[in-house]
Amino acid sequence: MSRFFSKQGLKSYTPGEQPKQMDSLSKLNTNESPYPPSPAVQKVLQEFDYEQLRLYSSPTMSTCKEAIAMAYGVKPEQILVAGGSDEALAFIFMAFFDQNESIAFPDITYGFYQVYADLFGIPTNQIPLENDFCINPNDYKTQTGAIIVANPNAPTGIALSTDQIQGMLEENRDRLLVVDEAYIDFSENRTMLPFINQYDNLLIVQTFSKSRALAGSRLGFVVGNEALIQDLETIKFSFNPYNIDRISEQICIASMQDDAYLQETVSAIKNTRVRFVNELQKLRYTVLPSEANFVFAKYPTMDGKMLYNRLKQDGILVRHFDVPRIADFVRITIGTDDQMDQFIQIIQNYR
Ligand SMILES: *Cc1c(COP(=O)(O)O)cnc(C)c1O
Repeated sequence: MSRFFSKQGLKSYTPGEQPKQMDSLSKLNTNESPYPPSPAVQKVLQEFDYEQLRLYSSPTMSTCKEAIAMAYGVKPEQILVAGGSDEALAFIFMAFFDQNESIAFPDITYGFYQVYADLFGIPTNQIPLENDFCINPNDYKTQTGAIIVANPNAPTGIALSTDQIQGMLEENRDRLLVVDEAYIDFSENRTMLPFINQYDNLLIVQTFSKSRALAGSRLGFVVGNEALIQDLETIKFSFNPYNIDRISEQICIASMQDDAYLQETVSAIKNTRVRFVNELQKLRYTVLPSEANFVFAKYPTMDGKMLYNRLKQDGILVRHFDVPRIADFVRITIGTDDQMDQFIQIIQNYR
């Protein structure tokens, strides 16, 4: 650290490893898709005219917004496009939270919420999950300030129902509720998108990184009431008006227009998840009920760190979080059937 750094003590986010040598490793640690993006995305890249890069990209992203609006039955004015949902979350923190009121989120959830809170100087209120790792909506009633929940939650994979989230919106009418739907496409109809016209305190964040297999393109979006979105646009235009580059803009549209491919790959991953969980349970693993493209699991005779290391030696990379309550677990991204069969074969010899 230099003596000029103004954020002494800031704890930044620790991303999952991105190893340089991938050949021998089965990479199941960052919830990327095992499948390529839509063929329509490949076509965009093959036909992209590089000379266009001379010009700035669109600051309004209206073509992307139209494509997203069409796919989800919302209005373009209800959408903000961001460089990954991480940037979307950063805009939300900047627009709606300040040092005067703490934001509430579960003690076990996506690590970036605490990181952004620290970066922007926002106090937080971490609310413990139940013993079974579920969110209890009643725990949020007595608090003040905005609420953030990931649904399905990460790294547990457990989802709240739309009824439960609607209950939270009703109970907390004057508090903003941000629902991070990074894994929603792998869930059983849990999206809150149908509720955005009914609740002016609801913001939904989604990403192209998981179900759309576009983690490398950095695309995400926010859906909400028009006034909320206008505020986010104000922040975006005060920070980086050209946040989406010209190539990603075209990729965004192509991916959104290919719903069939999304459904096909998501359903393949869900089928693999069911098979994989079944095999893990046969081997006496505890597996939390996942509605995401990963599972959170623990072995009775090995702690999470040991299991992580053992798997790494055997060429499989998973994610371990060295934090209380979940130190015994590892998070395993669902890959192809072949990858998961190989995984099961390897752990069969573990004692
Ligand atoms: C992966 C993930 C994100 C971030 O996704 P990007 O769009 O790649 O920035 C956001 N929230 C949760 C819960 C995630 O797991």
